Amino acid sequence: MNDKSYVSLERHVCLVCGITFDTGNLLLDKRLRASMERHTTTGWGLCEEHRRLFDAGYVALVECDPQRSGLKPEAGCLKPEQAWRSGRLAHLKREAFADVFNVPVKDDQACVFVEPGVIAQLQSMTESRSA
Ligand SMILES: [Zn+2]
Repeated sequence: MNDKSYVSLERHVCLVCGITFDTGNLLLDKRLRASMERHTTTGWGLCEEHRRLFDAGYVALVECDPQRSGLKPEAGCLKPEQAWRSGRLAHLKREAFADVFNVPVKDDQACVFVEPGVIAQLQSMTESRSA
């Protein structure tokens, strides 16, 4: 049985958490050939939850392992497909991010890759501040 089809449901991978989600778009093969799987992942996006946080003015800090990622995750220079996510996430308001890291975040930047330890450090900072 061939389960390929000329229509496919488009999926994106969330930049922040790495999950694959449906975009709600349908992809059609131009020549209507049964060339596609049921789902096709076409690129990066933001899942519902992280889109919501992005819209609310948060930037996501995504911890990744520089050794496994193969590159130093300095802001902006790590490609999402190279990032080896540790699973640890934090969200910061954009203004707070600029305060803490002394670097501004671009308006369209949804996430920043950080090295292990950065999130833990940040959490201890914010905890001591609110205590
Ligand atoms: Zn997500």
